[in-house]
Amino acid sequence: MNFINRKKVKTRKPHYCTGCMDIIPSGSMVIRDTLVDGEIYSVYFCDICEKVLEEYGNDIEEFSEGDLRETTVYEYWYKKRRAEKSERPANTEQRHGAIKKAP
Ligand SMILES: [Zn+2]
Repeated sequence: MNFINRKKVKTRKPHYCTGCMDIIPSGSMVIRDTLVDGEIYSVYFCDICEKVLEEYGNDIEEFSEGDLRETTVYEYWYKKRRAEKSERPANTEQRHGAIKKAP
């Protein structure tokens, strides 16, 4: 398997995130990696897994589908996103407060 290209794209249809196997809805801005393994194909990463890839960078050479869900960085961003979604505060200061209070 060889890496060809990484690009930020807007999805036109739903995809599975290769990192955590969550569904990425259509119309999301996500990372798309183009790879070649006999034939050329693309994989997609949700915003959380994008953060994980940023954090670990080249430490992750190869991983199986869903593996990024096991990382501590994924856990952190997943909790953070859930806190933001459940609270929806009006301004940034309140939002930081909400994250601290979240379990
Ligand atoms: Zn993901």
